[in-house]
Amino acid sequence: MAQPLRIGILGGGQLGRMLLQSAANYQVVTYVLESGSHPPAASLCHYFVEGDIKDYDAVYRFGKLVDVLTIEIEHVNLEALFKLEEEGLKIFPRPAALKIIKDKGLQKQFYKDHHIATSDFHLMEQKYELNNFFDFLPAVQKLRSGGYDGKGVEILRSDEDFHKAFDAPSVLEKLVNIDKEISVIVAVNENGETAVYPPVEMVFDPKYNLVDYLLCPAQLEQKHVLRAQQLATDVAKALNSPGIFAVEMFLDKNGSLLVNETAPRTHNSGHQSIEGNYCSQYDMQMRVLQNFAPGSTAIIQPSLMLNLIGEAGYTGTAKYAGLEEVMNMKGVYLHLYGKHETKPGRKMGHVTILGNDRDELLEKAARIKNSLKVISE
Ligand code: ADP
Repeated sequence: MAQPLRIGILGGGQLGRMLLQSAANYQVVTYVLESGSHPPAASLCHYFVEGDIKDYDAVYRFGKLVDVLTIEIEHVNLEALFKLEEEGLKIFPRPAALKIIKDKGLQKQFYKDHHIATSDFHLMEQKYELNNFFDFLPAVQKLRSGGYDGKGVEILRSDEDFHKAFDAPSVLEKLVNIDKEISVIVAVNENGETAVYPPVEMVFDPKYNLVDYLLCPAQLEQKHVLRAQQLATDVAKALNSPGIFAVEMFLDKNGSLLVNETAPRTHNSGHQSIEGNYCSQYDMQMRVLQNFAPGSTAIIQPSLMLNLIGEAGYTGTAKYAGLEEVMNMKGVYLHLYGKHETKPGRKMGHVTILGNDRDELLEKAARIKNSLKVISE
């Protein structure tokens, strides 16, 4: 009998956990590398290896245990991945693609070089260089590396905001007059077969700069749907790597679509696909890792995904208030990530709602937001 494929996942958060839920349907053995003894993915894999995903030796040794390696977060040791790839290991996404995406400066330059629509930008090494770009403001300054969930992003409206600017390598992007923020997920297997999901619409929580909820499908003109899917496919093709990619975009007030950034992995903007689309983003990643044909991205029913975020004012052992009411609602699916500790703004789980139309979805989401809270004991 053929040996089951050994799949390694760098990172043990909720994305890894949900990938493992799909992995359970296949003939594979799963390994997770993460620090700490109880990350969300640890209890669902066959082998949990405790170690730092940013450490060369930890990643290199972990890579030697598996047949194919993937990630659920991009902050991993790249040098070890390049070495492992050189030695023949399959790594999806490829380290070269990861290298471009990990650095927001390289990423913007990559879009420009490949004629992929994105907002104008300048690269800066130090804060004082902003003096040269006052005419370019209003702009958004982003740290080239290390930022996430809106951390490391600052809006600079005029020279009076000079004091707010980061004094570190950064990208200064033209402020886009945003109409909608959307995301398109695209998957590519080793044969180059591609599958692209319908765009979803993301609505952000202004306090935490996290996705509050998303709607699938996004309410867009058909020409924008096609353009967004084309842009996402162009990004994936240019990255030249098997994998799953979430391409975040802005539709601006002039009707132009601009790529904001790409995640080289499953993404918060694809959680609804578990129940809302025929093939979930996690099953899609499993197909990519095994070089199976991509699944159908078609929508089963319109959906809304609501992130469950740690409530302000509560830190400590997580407690979920209002679960009973949610469990009594039809077409509502609960996902808790198994995180022991909550803190304000921490992503603790999500709820997917399926419904016939937007109004029904929004009405149910409002009820859930009122009743379900992540607090502490
Ligand atoms: P992160 O990687 O931390 O999520 P993003 O680059 O996605 O950072 O930026 C976070 C948010 O900031 C975006 O979702 C968007 O609302 C806003 N933003 C980012 N870039 C721009 C821009 N060029 N113009 C206007 N708003 C922007």
